[in-house]
Amino acid sequence: MKLTSVACALGMMVAVSAVVSAQVKPNVMTTTEDLASIAREIGGDRISVEAIAKGYQDPHFVEAKPSFILKLTRADLLIVIGRDLELGWLPPLINNSRNARVQPGGSGYLDASANVKILEIPTGQITRAMGDVHPSGNPHYWLEPDNGRRISQAIRDKLSELAPANKGYFAQRYSDFDQRLGEAEKRWAATMAPYAGTKVVTYHRSWPNFMEHFGLDVIGYVEPKPGVPPSPTHTLDLIAEMKRQNSKVIVVEPYFALKTAQSIATRVGGTVLVLAPSVGGAKAATDYLQLFEYNINLLASTLKQFTGK
Ligand SMILES: [Zn+2]
Repeated sequence: MKLTSVACALGMMVAVSAVVSAQVKPNVMTTTEDLASIAREIGGDRISVEAIAKGYQDPHFVEAKPSFILKLTRADLLIVIGRDLELGWLPPLINNSRNARVQPGGSGYLDASANVKILEIPTGQITRAMGDVHPSGNPHYWLEPDNGRRISQAIRDKLSELAPANKGYFAQRYSDFDQRLGEAEKRWAATMAPYAGTKVVTYHRSWPNFMEHFGLDVIGYVEPKPGVPPSPTHTLDLIAEMKRQNSKVIVVEPYFALKTAQSIATRVGGTVLVLAPSVGGAKAATDYLQLFEYNINLLASTLKQFTGK
């Protein structure tokens, strides 16, 4: 009996129109805290938002807790990073939610990667061979301010479609966010300008958009391939390359062990710098703008020590 009534309730939810009534706040779920932060910028107090992955977790490997299934069952909108970032954990949550709206292609499913700049798109056959977790291009694209702007535009348009009564409100919030982002971009560019062309290493390939945008040159990675742990041969090659190119700074995401990166840094007379790849990845990275503020100030002060600029 109980199972039948649950099934009926689910069926009714699925049948509900895509447009949320003016009095009800759209219930938005996002896969990451970065998307939740941008959705909050646009949706303000007229939506409710919750992220599945925490900013201090590796977004490729998130525990698919059953509690998220119920949350997805109730969601009006699911916003994902896409490009296979969530491939290892999101599909079973979506399937088990039995919510037609949030299935890929549904009216309440938004892939934030649709209109952004994607780097490292593989040429030739697409494969996940040898554990490569970036088979469809680099999915860490939110770490570039203009991509953040494009994500916010997509969210504005989708929310306006779901809650047309609030279209003007979302447009106003977008315009305010766009202005604050634009002002911050000028400040960040000025802070990073002295370090243009500096050669750095990162643990995972989380930072191509970020480093390209701020003019830094990534010459190697602690991981031999995205998602593949360091190996002794690769580590020795990386040490040689860092010495050859006089590269001193290794950027590490907060969810990786520091041991290998630290031993490499010692060998090259450099340092390890833990940056936040997501909102919530450091205490001070409280929202999308603060994420950049935090990373840029920390990176600039470290590069200052090593370049004397
Ligand atoms: Zn990755």
